[in-house]
Amino acid sequence: MAFYDALTGLPNRSLFYDRLDKAIALAERTDTIVAVILMDLDSFKNINDSMGHDAGDLLLRRVSETLSSRIRDYDTMSRFGGDEFLFILSQLKTQVEAASIADKLLKALAKPISIAGEEIHITGSMGISCFPEDAKESEMLFKKADIAMYYSKEQGKNRYSFFNTKMYNSADEKMRLSNELYRALERDEFILYYQPQMDITGTAMIGMEALLRWNHPDKGFIPPLDFIPLAEDIGLIDEIGKWVLNKACIDNKNLQLKGFKPIRVAVNLSLKQFSGSSLTEMVKETLRKCELKPEYLELEITESIAMGDFTNVQQVLQELSDLGVILSIDDFGTEYSSLSRLKQLPVNRIKIDKQFVQGISLNTHDESITSFIIALAKSMRLKVIAEGVENSKQLSFLTEKLCDEIQGYYFYKPMPYDYLVDVFGVKQVDDLHNS
Ligand code: C2E
Ligand code: CA
Ligand code: CA
Repeated sequence: MAFYDALTGLPNRSLFYDRLDKAIALAERTDTIVAVILMDLDSFKNINDSMGHDAGDLLLRRVSETLSSRIRDYDTMSRFGGDEFLFILSQLKTQVEAASIADKLLKALAKPISIAGEEIHITGSMGISCFPEDAKESEMLFKKADIAMYYSKEQGKNRYSFFNTKMYNSADEKMRLSNELYRALERDEFILYYQPQMDITGTAMIGMEALLRWNHPDKGFIPPLDFIPLAEDIGLIDEIGKWVLNKACIDNKNLQLKGFKPIRVAVNLSLKQFSGSSLTEMVKETLRKCELKPEYLELEITESIAMGDFTNVQQVLQELSDLGVILSIDDFGTEYSSLSRLKQLPVNRIKIDKQFVQGISLNTHDESITSFIIALAKSMRLKVIAEGVENSKQLSFLTEKLCDEIQGYYFYKPMPYDYLVDVFGVKQVDDLHNS
């Protein structure tokens, strides 16, 4: 029993390594190849969550029966736990043989499995590493099969991939980056830049958007799109999002204390932040601590979050709106929006995505979308801001169409807080002199 998995009866980790070591020793003597396949079931967790653990266990047993009957007698199928299975294919002459076995296994898996009267369709993602090409010892073969398996997942699942060094580097890089991301918070390596949002005439700053940057000790400034998806992936976005919100509120409050006319600060939210612990509580608590009035905080959610079918989102948006914070829909126009849904959402502002703004004066398609979004916002009594405004042609088009507000390089790029205080502090003094 010490060598077999209790659920499936397959060889467990110790027996797997024992057999792999023997297969390697034999391959060395006979000049043959050993392939290790690591297979992870795709979306097994969903089935387990929706149908219950008993059904999940049954499915794992069926998978093990189906696939173990497809391999040769001297090969091994093993399970370490969870929904990962391993195969040792020995005495191969070429890697092509491993590919054809992997293919056969995926095809066998693709047949529906019936459990509790339901037909279940399950697929798997496989990574393959080979002795002697990829590694000479068992632990490393396993590790490289694992990397190749993740690559298969990334490429869209339900497939096999052979390990290659390029993958190793990118997986390695990703792992390094996520370790560093954990430390970035502790080491205070995040910085908020602020991009002013102007009224349509460009004279008054009516708000600012907080945009996150990571000041990496070796790599310098890393843009948000290079690390936010990773932070979401590894579950770090809640903590980072909390830091951003807190810092943005503190900075905005400080502007007011310096005597600036109060403005809104806009903070971007990730979908993941809606599923974690109470977002509303966190926002409320932050506002209280910073003594910032809710109307000076704006939360930006993308159109895909607002319109998506996420049960929690609508309720949380309502709670946030009840708190008195301003809600806006970012990147508007890039997804399919249901107008009736839009009407139900407690949003105050729409941000026209920069891809349309940047098409102004270049193509009529983008121009008509832009005018349509402005007209739509007006008819729903929502404010509308255009982002990514870079030139005077775009500005005059937006002015003519009665867009309310402007954000973009044409007026200001995102800048550090101190810089913003300098630029607008001087201006404010000017305003005082003029009045
Ligand atoms: P976004 O919310 O759509 O932010 C606007 C992006 O457009 C910013 O890029 C900004 O620097 C850039 N931009 C502004 N004006 C112009 C312009 O005139 N021309 C052009 N070409 N670009 C302009 P950035 O700072 O690289 O941010 C990229 C994205 O990262 C943001 O897109 C947002 O989705 C995300 N992000 C940034 N900060 C945060 C954050 O604190 N939390 C979360 N969850 N996401 C963030
Ligand atoms: Ca935004
Ligand atoms: Ca945007």
